[in-house]
Amino acid sequence: MLEEYRRKRDFKKTSEPIGEVRPSKESHLYVIQRHDASHLHYDLRLEMDGVLKSWAVPKEPPLGPGVKRLAVQTEDHPIDYASFEGVIPEGEYGAGKVEIWDRGTYELLEKEADKYIIEVSGERLKGRYALIRFKGSGDPKNWLFFKKKG
Ligand code: MN
Repeated sequence: MLEEYRRKRDFKKTSEPIGEVRPSKESHLYVIQRHDASHLHYDLRLEMDGVLKSWAVPKEPPLGPGVKRLAVQTEDHPIDYASFEGVIPEGEYGAGKVEIWDRGTYELLEKEADKYIIEVSGERLKGRYALIRFKGSGDPKNWLFFKKKG
């Protein structure tokens, strides 16, 4: 599950973790990293099946309902990545500064192939959020991320 993650990185050059597939002690970890790469984006990561399922959100994640954000699914990351902050060196994959923007836990309320409903308990994001595959967008990696009303 981490093959793509490892293939893209040179661990002699980046301080990102090599990591391994394993459930964390703290179950259902949730983190958003602000990644100031060639394009500033926010990496949403949810612990699932021993890895962090990951989506890149090009704009600031919504704190309240009414705003839908594109979330582009990216390669699974190791659980250890949840605490990673630092600067990925120039010339390396994802070069730029990574900072933790929000962190906490989440509860999976609904899970289908194309739909996750989660209850997020973060510092910034709190409440019920949906991740739904953006059908018709032409790319199966495109999802929508938004806060549910109520
Ligand atoms: Mn990123």
